[in-house]
Amino acid sequence: MKILKGSIEKLMLLILVVLFYGCHAQSDSERHARERARDRMVTEQIQWRGVTDKNVLRAMRSVPRHAFVPEPYTEYAYDDTPLPIGDGQTISQPYIVGYMTEALDLKPFDKVLEIGTGSGYQAAILAEICDSVYTIEIFESLASRAGILLDSLGYTNIRIRNGDGHQGWHEYAPFDAIIVTCAPEKIPEPLQEQLAENGRMIIPAGERSIQYLYLLVKKKGKIRERAILPVRFVPMINEEGKRY
Ligand code: SAH
Repeated sequence: MKILKGSIEKLMLLILVVLFYGCHAQSDSERHARERARDRMVTEQIQWRGVTDKNVLRAMRSVPRHAFVPEPYTEYAYDDTPLPIGDGQTISQPYIVGYMTEALDLKPFDKVLEIGTGSGYQAAILAEICDSVYTIEIFESLASRAGILLDSLGYTNIRIRNGDGHQGWHEYAPFDAIIVTCAPEKIPEPLQEQLAENGRMIIPAGERSIQYLYLLVKKKGKIRERAILPVRFVPMINEEGKRY
């Protein structure tokens, strides 16, 4: 009886060991598969389409995009497409993130403002490249989810605020760069004012069906603006849900 009990215990221990290593091997292979998918995403969707900024490519290779995409869309996180993140909002297509980030011509000591935190993915990319990131999200649910996720990933240089980003973030202005990921009809004045000398802003603007991505540069207090790409972003809205 004693011998039998001993063998059962050994067998149970063996099963536990096998299960433990099995799970580990599975999560290891999952991690490698995601790293490979991410690497391919950067090479094929971003580099091959012309993005060359080394810091942007490095950041996009290291931020785990799948962590920012909720179920049931997580498995498509590395696909060439925008995806739903809840509250009717979307995480931008990887190429658009790469393109907009490169257009900002970021330096390591830059302070950046983002309007439209959404999932927090773009904020993480910025935080990999720059000194500090300030980001505003109008939906409380998205702002708090992004905050928890970015904390869990160890980002200490991102500050999130829940509110309307149309007015910018006066307290921390001026910013070396501003990125807007929702589209107003007109480029908001306060954002232009909060741009530092030699600052860059990338922003989609226009009516629902005819939007362009604009690049603005401030030189000697004057703003130069040019449309660089036709795009389609979710609208910038106010606290009542009306579009700007
Ligand atoms: N940058 C995000 C993509 C966000 S989509 C990412 O990486 O996931 C655009 C976001 O802008 C949405 O989450 C939307 O809720 C938000 N938004 C819309 N109007 C806004 C406003 N006035 N101020 C701040 N955020 C706004």
